[in-house]
Amino acid sequence: MYVAPKIFGVTVSVNTQPNGLCTLACPACPVGNIGFPKPGKEKMSLGKFREILDILRDRDKVKVRDLWPSNYTEPLLHPEIPSFIQELRNRGVPSYISTNLQSFKNVPEVLAVGPTQFRVSISGWTRETYGRHHGGDVELLKSNVRRLAQIPRKPQTTIFVHFHRWLDNVGEESLVKKFAEDLGFTFTSEWAWWKPPDRLVEALEAGVTLPGMEYLNLDVVLRGRHLKTPCRGIYKHLVIEMDGSVPLCCNMPRVVVGNFFETPLAELQKRKMGHPACVGCHKWGLSAAYFNIDELE
Ligand code: SF4
Ligand code: SF4
Repeated sequence: MYVAPKIFGVTVSVNTQPNGLCTLACPACPVGNIGFPKPGKEKMSLGKFREILDILRDRDKVKVRDLWPSNYTEPLLHPEIPSFIQELRNRGVPSYISTNLQSFKNVPEVLAVGPTQFRVSISGWTRETYGRHHGGDVELLKSNVRRLAQIPRKPQTTIFVHFHRWLDNVGEESLVKKFAEDLGFTFTSEWAWWKPPDRLVEALEAGVTLPGMEYLNLDVVLRGRHLKTPCRGIYKHLVIEMDGSVPLCCNMPRVVVGNFFETPLAELQKRKMGHPACVGCHKWGLSAAYFNIDELE
């Protein structure tokens, strides 16, 4: 018999733009390696966003612990992103922006509203290293991070510079850390992942290395096999796409378990439990690594 865990709250990612709409196409990200359908032009309206928040509150009676208005998209590309953050503030829901900051579009407006966290991702100090992992322009990124330091922000907003650590960029981490802290930002880092897990499992089982995988620290990632932690992606995280489709987890954007507007959250979570697409992920310990990487270092 299925026994659902008591859900005290979920982290929710709402894709307010078509999946894959990003300024970059990193090789370790599904945007770069599984070729999402070409994004359409339509973006989520503020009304639809409010409807999702209302359904979570009234139908599912779930506490939204925090909300990210993106999942494999660049949130700052949405022209109404400041209004989304304002809506979350009005409701007392912590809001998270995760950006590659290759563009400065909407940054002052978002900071004026005051998200809880504003995270800038970086994967190298030099053009060569950053280009290998993110494919963008690291000097443009540094210049935008310096601009960020000049923009007034609300006291509740923490700005992070987050370093994605790969085998070939470990030596550049201290340079990025100094850069971030000299500007007054919080610095964080962790071993990077390669997603989606089903493709990673295929590659591991076939003994092949896909682009970007050669820099993944498998020694750390595969330690997940020794963790007994159940996958948090199943019951503590909910991703909702533009059309309401709900993927199995944030890592598996192609595997859909139902539609948010038609199916109660409890039923969606039930469909995730024991999903066949999770078998390989569990076998290789990737589920534990994806959500507990800090415990494996
Ligand atoms: S990792 Fe982030 S910046 Fe890179 S393609 Fe994916 S969503 Fe875009
Ligand atoms: S076990 Fe893997 S595929 Fe399944 S929900 Fe967790 S992270 Fe996603």
